[in-house]
Amino acid sequence: MPKPATSRTRELIFGDLWEYDPAPETADPKLKSRYDLFINGKFTAPKSGQTFDTINPANEAKLAEIAVAGADDVDRAYKAADKAFTSTWSKLPGIERGKYIYRIARLLQDRAREFAVAETLDGGKPIKESRDFDVPMAAAHFFYHAGWADKLDYIAPGRRVQPLGVVGQVIPWNFPLLMMAWKIAPALAMGNTVVIKPAETTSITALKMGEIFQEAGLPPGVVNIVTGAGETGAAVVNHPLAKKIAFTGSTEVGKVIMKALAGTDKKLTLELGGKAANIIFDDAPLDQAVEGIVNGIFFNQGHVCCAGSRLLVQESIADEVLARLKRRIAVLRVGDPMDKNTDIGAINSREQLAKITRLVASGVKEGAEIHQPACKLPAKGFYFKPTVFSGVSMSHRIAREEIFGPVLSILTFRTVEEAIEKANNTAFGLSAGVWTDKGSRILKMSTELKAGVVWANTYNKFDPTSPFGGYKESGFGREGGRQGLLDYGQLVG
Ligand code: NAP
Ligand code: MG
Repeated sequence: MPKPATSRTRELIFGDLWEYDPAPETADPKLKSRYDLFINGKFTAPKSGQTFDTINPANEAKLAEIAVAGADDVDRAYKAADKAFTSTWSKLPGIERGKYIYRIARLLQDRAREFAVAETLDGGKPIKESRDFDVPMAAAHFFYHAGWADKLDYIAPGRRVQPLGVVGQVIPWNFPLLMMAWKIAPALAMGNTVVIKPAETTSITALKMGEIFQEAGLPPGVVNIVTGAGETGAAVVNHPLAKKIAFTGSTEVGKVIMKALAGTDKKLTLELGGKAANIIFDDAPLDQAVEGIVNGIFFNQGHVCCAGSRLLVQESIADEVLARLKRRIAVLRVGDPMDKNTDIGAINSREQLAKITRLVASGVKEGAEIHQPACKLPAKGFYFKPTVFSGVSMSHRIAREEIFGPVLSILTFRTVEEAIEKANNTAFGLSAGVWTDKGSRILKMSTELKAGVVWANTYNKFDPTSPFGGYKESGFGREGGRQGLLDYGQLVG
């Protein structure tokens, strides 16, 4: 029997011996040097004639030029979507709509590796995440909603449901392809048509989906993709033909959109920011809990709305948990997102890196204790070390503001009541995690935590059948499941 490793020997083994050879993913992402707008089933140059560059945040190299959609282009997209809605899509029987959505899912699966590489190059997330999470989960959303398209008569017993018309959708950069699938699949299953705007830094996989819509033979105008920055997003949100706006992004922009839509009859759903608490009790299985905490905050560089960015740990085990976390982050592999062994890839943009750096500096200034591993970061590109703060109090900015980076703030508690109070003491309410051996405590916590999703003894688990969405400043409306689909329709009769 080998002797169990003490924490000292474990540090030595991991720190000194575990160097991996590079293992780069080599699939061809089949990128074009220029991407035009996708309107009425065709790639078309913008009226403005303007383009912007999209870069690889891992090395700052230019990947492609992307068209900027001005108000005229957004208008063209809405007119195409409106025509497609009235002339074809809303008239098709559900079973026919379902076939198209199913075909989209299959084609995405066929090109999964290509899409995973494109997603990683454009956004900076590790290839193992885009390959094992983003792309399969995006396909799963299309499959799930394909199944619903011919069963809408059963979605609300005793009632009939109808599509709304043209839906305007605006999405962020943290899960570009997955957020697109979350938005488009239910909209199409319900019989709506779509104008969607991806985020400026991550438009490539959205535009590659345009190729898939063409391959699937989707009728022209059913999905239109307009690219550009915030101004293009505002044009999408404010277009008079939009019957519903579905937005995922920051609480700040969500508030602007809510004001802009006040007094109109457009339906609105907002999926906004978060500051989730991951709560760990002294009876929790610590090895699993530490893995869950690490996954909860360092997954996708912490660019996750539901990231477990606050760790509430019961006082009696606080030192032990901190020691284990420090050992764990010392062996996380930070660097080239295209390497299959990378755990933490590139921060999505220079602006986001600056924001993370600013908030981390505020944590140090306000007196929290910072813990970072000694890892080396690549010289080019945008990177941030996995960071843990201990000695954090509720008044610190790092305990209140969404950092959207690989930064964990640890707070302590003594009783269940104190844990609930601290977890709920936030403007947000998207998600939470509970780690304990006691089933009754899990039930109590999941009832009293004001969060759209509460994970128990796990974290960041997703399924297309399960509705996802927020409380308070994390927004309203749900995505996924029957509830998410109903948000794309109106009940009649
Ligand atoms: P963001 O700045 O709000 O941007 C989101 C989208 O809105 C982007 O496409 C953006 O375009 C566009 N936009 C900017 N200004 C606009 C305006 N005035 N009108 C209409 N659209 C506008 O958010 P982000 O920084 O990309 O994304 C991070 C945020 O998303 C975080 O707060 C995160 O928590 C949240 N998020 C929430 C969920 C959820 O399900 N609740 C999921 C993922 C992310 P540009 O990018 O081109 O500026
Ligand atoms: Mg990019």
